[in-house]
Amino acid sequence: MPIATVNPANGETLKTYDALSPEEIERRLAAAEAAFRTHRTTSFAERARLLHQAADLLDAEQQDIAQVMTMEMGKPVKQARAEAAKCAKAMRWYADHAQGLLADEEPAESDVKDSGASRVFVRYRPLGPVLAVMPWNFPLWQVIRFAAPALMAGNVGLLKHASNVPQTALYLEDLFRRAGFPEGCFQTLLIGSGAVEGILRDPRVKAATLTGSEPAGRAVASVAGDEVKKTVMELGGSDPFVVMPSADIDRAAKVAVTARVQNNGQSCIAAKRFIVHTDVFDAFAERFTAGMNALKVGDPLDEDTDVGPLSTEQGRSDLEELVDDAVESGATVLCGGERPDGFTESGWYYAPTVLADITPEMRIHQEEAFGPVATLYRAADLDEAVALANDSPFGLSSNVWTRDGTDVDRFVRDLEAGGVYVNGMTASHPAFPFGGEKRSGYGRELSGHGIREFCNITTVWHG
Ligand code: NDP
Repeated sequence: MPIATVNPANGETLKTYDALSPEEIERRLAAAEAAFRTHRTTSFAERARLLHQAADLLDAEQQDIAQVMTMEMGKPVKQARAEAAKCAKAMRWYADHAQGLLADEEPAESDVKDSGASRVFVRYRPLGPVLAVMPWNFPLWQVIRFAAPALMAGNVGLLKHASNVPQTALYLEDLFRRAGFPEGCFQTLLIGSGAVEGILRDPRVKAATLTGSEPAGRAVASVAGDEVKKTVMELGGSDPFVVMPSADIDRAAKVAVTARVQNNGQSCIAAKRFIVHTDVFDAFAERFTAGMNALKVGDPLDEDTDVGPLSTEQGRSDLEELVDDAVESGATVLCGGERPDGFTESGWYYAPTVLADITPEMRIHQEEAFGPVATLYRAADLDEAVALANDSPFGLSSNVWTRDGTDVDRFVRDLEAGGVYVNGMTASHPAFPFGGEKRSGYGRELSGHGIREFCNITTVWHG
């Protein structure tokens, strides 16, 4: 894939970039190693001061960077502004909490005595340069949720961003530099995915984190495994959204629309499979389909647009193939199912779509639909709802709608996912762990769990 900004609203190539030469990559790896030697010795207070400055700059530049994101990957500009605001909040959260999250731990006195020590403590020390392979869907947020904890822990960052968001990638490097982080603490590598293996095998790179597709995750995790380097993998999702009879159906249907089409439907934690108890199926399906039909599809730079184009032409054809396969195998189209009227000539638009009568042989039953396409399932009872929710190779998060405590207990006990959101939609927050199980990956981002992923957990024992 060329490294370029191509406007998804009209297919126009706005800017192209050359990939870094091997000599430039070497220079940046050396800079990262040198920066780590100093950065690891700085105080939490100093790191926090710089991160607060980065957050302030980002707030001041919110409108400009939002426009760049929208131009590069097509998200509605109001959502791009919200993403930038969320990044500033996460930076401040880590700036204010990292010291506490990484404070020395003291084991129980009886265990210290039992080991024959006079004192034992556990210290979280940084690892070194960490490679972040990141996707285009939340081009600021995916990077900041790695970079803020990494920098606060004393690590340094090397970003290989998706090839279609180079301007956002360069903005991030510039943001940290202008905030005062020394040269080499956070660098953007404009490279294709073929250059990742060599960088990951370099002994100066200590670990890697990847957010993206399963094939990309498998490629990076295999190399890291071969090199015995720690990784965190945040791969795709096909999150269930379960609606039980006691739920507030109006609210559930309203939130379901947002949960499905946020970010033009291209979010790993978007609800994708809507599993509805048979008693409330018709009522939910009618309200949900009406809500999906009422969305305004259009230019993502317009303030009142709800759904913009998909980020790439390939992304749209992948989605079309999934829908066409389902329809050929008997799925019922309740709305959408094609390119929207008025947008068939230019731009990579796809109409908000609801499909019912899904069967297990359809590809969409097992694969991630990365766009505004929802699948509806009917469940006879709680057992079937749980079974359908878990009948997916993915296990990122889940949404359940019910006012019955027994249902909630059952979902929390049995859903195979890294999150269970009750009467609401999945949304990440800096203070809560984020990540999945099964093919959705492993490890956690955000919260104390996220910042500790890339630390050398060191036992200090005194005789
Ligand atoms: P990819 O997984 O291909 O891209 C994500 C990142 O990984 C990019 O930086 C990409 O670089 C890099 N990458 C891709 N292949 C390799 C490789 N073999 N070795 C090292 N790095 C690699 O996502 P796509 O954009 O192709 O999207 C495809 C599908 O992935 C989507 O339809 C969706 O299902 C899923 N996806 C999930 C995301 C999530 O948030 N969980 C985010 C994005 C996609 P480059 O851009 O240069 O190829």
